[in-house]
Amino acid sequence: QTKRLEAYLHRPTVTADGRKPELAANIGTVEEAVQARAAGAEGIGLFRTEFLFMNRDTLPSEDEQTEAYRAVMAAFPSGTSVIIRTLDIGGDKELLLLELPKEENPFLGVRAIRLCLQFPELFKTQLRAMLRASADGRLKIMFPMIATVQELRAAKALLEEAKNELRARGIPFRDPVEIGIMIEVPSAALMADRLAMEVDFLSIGTNDLVQYVMAADRMNPGVSELNQPLQPAVLRLIRHVIRSGREAGIHVGMCGEMAGNRYAVPILLGLGLQEFSMNAPGIVRVREQMSRLHAERLEAAANAVLELDSPDEIREYVEREILAAA
Ligand code: PEP
Ligand code: MG
Repeated sequence: QTKRLEAYLHRPTVTADGRKPELAANIGTVEEAVQARAAGAEGIGLFRTEFLFMNRDTLPSEDEQTEAYRAVMAAFPSGTSVIIRTLDIGGDKELLLLELPKEENPFLGVRAIRLCLQFPELFKTQLRAMLRASADGRLKIMFPMIATVQELRAAKALLEEAKNELRARGIPFRDPVEIGIMIEVPSAALMADRLAMEVDFLSIGTNDLVQYVMAADRMNPGVSELNQPLQPAVLRLIRHVIRSGREAGIHVGMCGEMAGNRYAVPILLGLGLQEFSMNAPGIVRVREQMSRLHAERLEAAANAVLELDSPDEIREYVEREILAAA
């Protein structure tokens, strides 16, 4: 089995009918970028930058961050798409450096982009570092936890300020740099058509999207029945997001755990998802699975699945109608 999968390590990803979805990796450190390449990743779909900020008593400088982002890009051939996410602190990830008020519901509080908009200097330092690293290749900037169009515009305005600050210092960067947002808040999923008009890509973050859509904590085993990516409500929302992005002519990916789920992969292919980003060890398995799937035929199957009422029925349908035949 392992031997058979190894054959898919460094092959291009192609479905049985010739479609070429992109298989990228989620990483949290520079070392993981190297491991992701070795595991067959075609790029980075999510670099969680939190590690640069955690377990230390000073903030990382612009130079230090620039080096880290360059190092991640250097793990791949030049021109490879590398999506770097701005700081996603709050919720489950605490930052001891900032003295923040205790919150009763941190997952519904000042986290991620909300925090960055409250600390514009911290945010712009990171943006300048990303911009500087972007001079070397295809770095894309991604904002987490966007809930409204206004937040996106505020983040973009700070990005423009960061660019002007670099221009004033005579430092080169890629302009325009591609920017995108995570769709992980239900309001953003519902507004995906509007948000899509103002960015270059969308990336669906199902780890958070599922918990917010289902009102079921992603870390609480007591509600794991509800916290499932194959809940029909989740799938319907995802269909809307993918459609919205495709209609706006932009790239749509996914960087939550769901992107590597064997039941979800055929559904997402059928819905037209273009990029699947996951923990690196899952990549070969998904590449092998995709080689047996007909993306075009899956379109009808995906829509049929969305008429079912429960994760169990959906799994059973996928098993019987898709996996058994592939
Ligand atoms: C997500 O929410 O799906 C995601 C990829 O981000 P994180 O797991 O870092 O919250
Ligand atoms: Mg998230």
